[in-house]
Amino acid sequence: MSEIIGAIFDLDGVLVDTAKYHYLAWKRLAAELGFNFTEKENEQLKGVSRMRSLEILLEIGNIHANEKQKEEWAQKKNEWYVEYLNRLDKDALLPGTEKYLEKLQKHCIKIALGSASKNAPLILEKLHITSFFNALIDGNCIEKAKPDPEIFLKSAEAIHLQPKECVVFEDSEAGICAAKNGGMMAVGIGSQEIIPGADLYAANLSELCNKKFLLEG
Ligand code: MG
Repeated sequence: MSEIIGAIFDLDGVLVDTAKYHYLAWKRLAAELGFNFTEKENEQLKGVSRMRSLEILLEIGNIHANEKQKEEWAQKKNEWYVEYLNRLDKDALLPGTEKYLEKLQKHCIKIALGSASKNAPLILEKLHITSFFNALIDGNCIEKAKPDPEIFLKSAEAIHLQPKECVVFEDSEAGICAAKNGGMMAVGIGSQEIIPGADLYAANLSELCNKKFLLEG
């Protein structure tokens, strides 16, 4: 196995807890459209692009719409989501985020973001963690959604590393598949039952701070 010298992070569910705000904004849209949207149903939207999320929501509500209408609803949801993002504070950081990024940086590991979110730069700025990243690849830079490996291949390229030199940290099954499809090592943030296929699992980054993984020497 090659030496791992690059770390690629998913954002929502790995570094920050923004899933609840996505949920509240989608729930508000569902209410406007006349149906209830549960937290359990929301699980299907994690790690999925904005437009695909909307399509899943409309399938749940049994609502049909043309492309123009879908664009309008997606935009509306995003405006509500951004309202929440503008009020974000450090409480939104998941356990261990800053400590682990600091440790990796200290060990000269290159760090990239590989997030499906088009709001990723705003979230990093709000939480003052932008400076940890050597490269940012987000929903604005990609054409194919996870499990296609495009996002992580572009992330590796942006930090000038081969895929086999990188490890991906992910909380979604599609994301783990994307990493493996790209020839990278994958760390699942969560449990094997919910996100199968990773090479290693941790409940959060705080757990990894205390392990030797990537941090020897
Ligand atoms: Mg995620």
